[in-house]
Amino acid sequence: MRIREALSRGASVLSGTGSESPYLDASILLALALACGRSALLARHSDALPAEAESAFFSLLARRAEGESIAYILGEKEFFGRSFHVGPGVLVPRPETEILVEAALLTARRILHNRGAGTPPAAYPPRRPGPNDAPGCGQGLALRVHDAFTGSGCVGVTLAAELPDAEVSLSDLSATARDLASRNAREILGRDLPVLESDILSGAPGPYDLITANPPYVDSARTDRLSGTQGTPGADGIRWEPRMALDGGADGLTFYRSLVPEAEKRLVPGGGLVVEIGEEQAAAVEALFRSGGFLDVEVIRDLGGRDRVVRGLRHEGN
Ligand code: GLN
Repeated sequence: MRIREALSRGASVLSGTGSESPYLDASILLALALACGRSALLARHSDALPAEAESAFFSLLARRAEGESIAYILGEKEFFGRSFHVGPGVLVPRPETEILVEAALLTARRILHNRGAGTPPAAYPPRRPGPNDAPGCGQGLALRVHDAFTGSGCVGVTLAAELPDAEVSLSDLSATARDLASRNAREILGRDLPVLESDILSGAPGPYDLITANPPYVDSARTDRLSGTQGTPGADGIRWEPRMALDGGADGLTFYRSLVPEAEKRLVPGGGLVVEIGEEQAAAVEALFRSGGFLDVEVIRDLGGRDRVVRGLRHEGN
């Protein structure tokens, strides 16, 4: 079989299985089977596909057709311009979670500005710091940052990379997630970050200037549908992701009810809490922030116009 034919056969195996981009997926998997880049495939369209690569390709296609995500099959996913190791024990980083990172960076600047340091916060979305920026615009920030429910570590490791002077720690209840997050920190940052074992914030004593979290927020019934056999396998591969990272209880809000008061105890006055939410949860989470003593509470939308992040600053009293 030629490479060209393998690609079109692969795409037809995947079409109708829930893959939204069967040809693209087939070419990613064929490149993996051949251990070459996707662009190299183009140049090799007329080459014969070696037998071992052919059987590797068809077993990768079978995994994708069953609904396993490309990220799990490759073992990596790009997030905020960096490549993170992922695996079945953690949620695959979603593009909309980049909004959580951007909101956290903006909140970091606001906290410093409120303390009389740093440049005033820009309009949303924040500009990425450039090489000639003054301290306080990404560089020179000595903030203590904690990322709870860290999973692969994508949020916390990205914040550590974007705020090089911040003291960043991560936490998760799952040992698999903690191992993966440590590995991602080491490989992406070239140094270790503290990765704590913690149920919500119980194992993370603080004090912190900024806390970020993408807790499980899908309600239990929807988690059942997505992870059960009636779920549409393939579209986002959610059926393969750990239930522990998705299920937020009957109304999806269980973790925010504990996280908000626990964060309030661990944040310094004026410190920030920034959380990802499901698109229908803004009003409820905003109310939890306000009744928990957070000021300057703001809901931020993702690029699809859906409410995606709530952030607030802890009251100044002690
Ligand atoms: N964004 C995920 C989804 O809806 C859920 C992530 C989460 O629960 N934190 O598919």
